[in-house]
Amino acid sequence: MVKLLEYEAKKILATHDIAVPKNYIAEDVPRFLPAVLKSQVLTGGRGKAGGVVIVKTNEEYEAARQKLAGLKIKGFLPKTILAEELLDIDHEYYLSFIIDKKVPSITLMAHKNGGVEVEENDPNEFLHIPLDDKNAEAAGEQLADYYDLPEKTFILQDIVERLYQTFIEQDITLLEINPLVLTKSGELVAGDAKIVCDDSASFRHPDWHFEVEKAETNFVTLDQKGNVATIANGAGLAMATVDAVAEAGLRPANFLDIGGGANEASVLAAFKRIMEYPEIKVIIINIFAGITRCDEVAKAIIAAKSQLDTLPPLAIRLAGTNYEQAAELLAENNITIHPNLEQALKSAKETI
Ligand code: GDP
Ligand code: MN
Repeated sequence: MVKLLEYEAKKILATHDIAVPKNYIAEDVPRFLPAVLKSQVLTGGRGKAGGVVIVKTNEEYEAARQKLAGLKIKGFLPKTILAEELLDIDHEYYLSFIIDKKVPSITLMAHKNGGVEVEENDPNEFLHIPLDDKNAEAAGEQLADYYDLPEKTFILQDIVERLYQTFIEQDITLLEINPLVLTKSGELVAGDAKIVCDDSASFRHPDWHFEVEKAETNFVTLDQKGNVATIANGAGLAMATVDAVAEAGLRPANFLDIGGGANEASVLAAFKRIMEYPEIKVIIINIFAGITRCDEVAKAIIAAKSQLDTLPPLAIRLAGTNYEQAAELLAENNITIHPNLEQALKSAKETI
C-alpha cells in the first residue's frame, strides 16, 4: 500500500476533474495571498494539531511556513507545505470510497457532518452505498438526498461517477474527501483528500512518483484500534507474536515481519507506521536472530528511537547471534530487554 500526501491526492483528483482549491507548494515567495498553509504529513488531525494555518500577509506567510516546517504532527515532520486559496465554507461533508470486503464492492460512505470532528459521529449513521459501473447516477441522487442538497444532484452524480473512475483507474484502495466543502457561493470542493494506492499495481502507473516510499508489504493492519504493535523477524515468529499478544488479553494492531534486514531505515519506517495507530500503548519487538544479528537490531532500534519524540514504550525480547553486544548497547541507552516473550508481554501489560 502506498499512501499519498494531500497535495499528491489532490493532483490526482484535479486530473479527474474533481474540484480542488487552487494551490501551490509554499516556498520563499507566496504566489497568492490570503492562503491557508497546510503541513503535508501522512496523518490526519492536522487541523487540531496546529498544522493548518490561515495567512493574510507576507509576514504571516513566512512565520507560519517556518512554524509548520518545525512542527511535528504525531511524530511526523513535513517535507512539503501546501498553500491553498481560502474557502468560504458554508458546510463540511464527509465522503469516502472504500473497498468493503464484506459486500464485496467499492462502497461509498458519507456523512452530513464532516471536518475535524468526523470521528464524533455515530458509526451507524454513515450512509453506505455499494457501487458498480452502472449505479453512479442513482448513488449520486441518493447522496444528494442524504446530504439534503437536492439542488446539487447533478454535480453529486458527476462527483460520484468521477471518483469511481478515479478509484479504478488509479488502483486506489481508499479515497477520502474530508471535508467535502460546500462554499457560500454554492460550489462543492474537495477541502482535504486522502488516497491510498495498491502498489502491487505500480507497474501499470509509470507516472506514480510519490514523496513517501512505499510501505513494507509484510506489514499488515489487523486492528486500527489495537493497543499493542508488533515487530518480529520471520513470518512464523511474527504470527506467533501476534497470537501471544491476543492470548495475553491485549489487542494486536498489526503484523510485521521485518525479515533479516533490520536496519535503522526499516525500523524507523516501522515505528512511523505504528505511530499512525491512535491507541498504541506499547510496541513489542520479538527478534530471534540467526542470520540477523542482535547488535545490528539494537543499533537500529536506538537510532530510530532517537529520531522520534513520541514513540510509545518498547517491550523488547532479543535472542540469538550477538546477544551480549546488543544487551550492552541497549543497557547503555537505558532500554530494557527481556529474555523471553512472556516477560516482554508481562512488561507490556504493566505499561498499559
Ligand atoms: P485535517 O485536520 O488533517 O483533516 O486537515 P483538513 O485539511 O481537513 O483541515 C482541517 C480543517 O481546517 C477543515 O475541516 C476546515 O474546517 C479548516 N480549513 C481548511 N481549509 C480551510 C479554508 O480554506 N478556509 C477555512 N475557513 N477553513 C479551512
Ligand atoms: Mn481532513
